[in-house]
Amino acid sequence: MSGYTDHNDVTVVGAGPGGLACAIVLAQAGRRVTVREWHSDVGTRFHDDFQGLENWSHAKDVLVEMRAAGITTDFEFHPFDSGTVFDPAERRYPVRGKRPLFYLLRRGREAGSLDRALLEQARAAGAEVRFNDRVRDFDSAGVLATGPRQAGIVAVGHVFDTDMPDGAWLALGHRLAPGGYAYLLVQGGRGTVASCMFTGFRDQAKYLAATEEFFTRHAGLQMRSPRPFGGYGNIRLAATAVQGGHPVIGEQAGFQDALAGFGMRYAIRSGVLAARAIIDGSDYAAAWQRDLAPGLYAGVVNRFIYNLGGEPGMSLALRRLAKRDAGQLLERAYRLSLPKRLLLPLARRWYRAPLADPSCSHVDCDCVWCTHGQHENPVAEAP
Ligand SMILES: Cc1cc2nc3c(=O)[nH]c(=O)nc-3n(C[C@H](O)[C@H](O)[C@H](O)COP(=O)(O)OP(=O)(O)OC[C@H]3O[C@@H](n4cnc5c(N)ncnc54)[C@H](O)[C@@H]3O)c2cc1C
Repeated sequence: MSGYTDHNDVTVVGAGPGGLACAIVLAQAGRRVTVREWHSDVGTRFHDDFQGLENWSHAKDVLVEMRAAGITTDFEFHPFDSGTVFDPAERRYPVRGKRPLFYLLRRGREAGSLDRALLEQARAAGAEVRFNDRVRDFDSAGVLATGPRQAGIVAVGHVFDTDMPDGAWLALGHRLAPGGYAYLLVQGGRGTVASCMFTGFRDQAKYLAATEEFFTRHAGLQMRSPRPFGGYGNIRLAATAVQGGHPVIGEQAGFQDALAGFGMRYAIRSGVLAARAIIDGSDYAAAWQRDLAPGLYAGVVNRFIYNLGGEPGMSLALRRLAKRDAGQLLERAYRLSLPKRLLLPLARRWYRAPLADPSCSHVDCDCVWCTHGQHENPVAEAP
C-alpha cells in the first residue's frame, strides 16, 4: 500500500507534460489538484522548437494511448512516417514506417504547443495551476515532476522560418553531435535544427556550426530569422522513482530513452501511472516497474550496443533500418528480449558512470548546462 493514496487533495510539483498529464487524470477522477510551477508559464525551458513524440517504442499508437487515458490531443501535431538519416560517412538512408514513426509537435508557451494544450486541459478538468511558485520543501508535495536534475544530454540549435519543403532529417556521427545526433525538422514554413550531444558540451558552438553546414549541403537548409535555442536533458536508471512515499515522474525520475533522449512519452505515461496509483490506492513503484522499466532497460542496452558498434555499427544499423518497416524494427528493438536481458547487467554497470560529460569541467564554460541548468537544480535528492 502506498503512502500517497488517502488524500483528496493532491499537489503536483512541476507543470511539464508529466505533471500536467498527472493533474488531468487526477482532476478528471474528482481529486482536488494543485499544480505548483516555478516559472511564470508552462514550457519556459523550451523555445517553440519542434520535438518528436515517438511512436515506435510500443505497438500502441501514442496518441491513441493518450486519449485512452483521458488526455485530449488538441495540440498541433503532424504525423511523420518517413525521413532521411545520414551515417557518419554522409551516406543517405531513407527510412519509412507503415504507421507514423513520430508526431511532430511544438514545445513552449505558444498557442498550439503541447505544453499550452495540456495546461488548458488541466484547468478545464478543474486543476488549479499556480505559477511563480517554486517548491523547496518536498514534504508537502504529492507528485514530483520537476524535470531534469542535471545534464546528460545537451541540445543547441536554431528555430527559424523557411521556404523549405516539410521533412525530417537526422545525421549520426561524432563530427556533428558526439554520442548523439544532429536533426533538422521542417513543417509548414517553420524549422528547428540542432546538434544533440551526449558529450563534448564545451564545444557546442563548433558542433552546431558543423550541423548547419552539413544540412545546408545535404538537405538544402535555408533559415530566415534564426533564433538560437538550447536545452538539456537527464537520463538515469531510477532506483525507485518513489521518494518519501511520493511518486517521482518524467525526467525528474530519469525516465528518458537512453539511446535517443526521447522523454515526452515517458513523462506522460509516468504521469498517468502516478495518477492512477493515487486514485486506486495501488502501488506506483510496481506500476512503473511493470510498464516503463522494460522499455527503459532496453534503451540502455541499445545505447550500450550503439556505443560498442561505433561508427561502422551505425552504418550497419541504418542499412537494416532502410530496408524494412522502420517502425516495426524499432518497436522490436525496444522489447526487453532474452538477449537484451542477458546484456542488461553489463549495460547497467557501464551506464552508471559515463553521463557526466568529461569535456565540461563547469569552469569558464558556456555550454547550456553551465549557463542555465545548474542554477535550476530541483528540490529533491535523488531517489
Ligand atoms: C532541446 C530538447 C529537445 C528535445 N526533444 C525531444 C524530442 O524530440 N522527443 C522527446 O520525446 N523528448 C525530447 N526532449 C525531452 C523532453 O522535452 C522531456 O523529456 C520532457 O519535457 C520531460 O517532461 P517533464 O514533465 O518530466 O519535465 P519538464 O518538461 O522539464 O517540466 C518540469 C517542470 O517543472 C518545473 N519545476 C522545476 N523545479 C521546480 C520546483 N522546484 N518547483 C516548481 N516547479 C518546478 C519546471 O519549471 C518545468 O516547468 C527534448 C529536450 C530538449 C531539452
